[in-house]
Amino acid sequence: PVARDCPPDVNELGRSTWTFLHSVAAQYPEQATPAQQDDMKSFMRIFGKLYPCWYCAADFQEWSAKPENTPKVAGQEDFGRWLCDAHNEVNRKLGKPEFDCNLWKERWRDGWNDGRCD
Ligand code: FAD
Repeated sequence: PVARDCPPDVNELGRSTWTFLHSVAAQYPEQATPAQQDDMKSFMRIFGKLYPCWYCAADFQEWSAKPENTPKVAGQEDFGRWLCDAHNEVNRKLGKPEFDCNLWKERWRDGWNDGRCD
């Protein structure tokens, strides 16, 4: 039989989306211009409306609407940490281990010191 790709389920969609979002953070400028900051705020706001898992999107919008959780977009460090916090919020909700946000750049930008890439 011919191998066929199937539509992504919530897990595959999530893994792909986190890969995309953390990679965006890894390429975000160290110091973003006001225009870049506006773009990122708009992007995350629209992302929260359009994410194609409705209950995931609803929870994400609710979390990011709290004053203490609004996207931090001044630069790469801020945004990368904020995104790591957002991902950890979902990890907690799903009963998964929290990720050490001190390590987000090794995971998503620079690679692990020992050459691993998982
Ligand atoms: P993932 O959580 O997809 O993570 C992929 C990789 O990212 C991990 O292997 C690890 O190396 C790294 N990583 C893990 N945590 C962090 C972190 N905090 N910071 C940086 N890197 C990290 N699924 C649901 O079932 N219910 C939901 O309500 C739900 N809401 C979601 C909301 C959003 C906005 C997104 C993008 C996804 C959501 N998901 C939800 C999907 C869920 O987060 C996972 O993607 C999915 O469960 C698959 O998990 P995983 O174990 O493969 O790793």
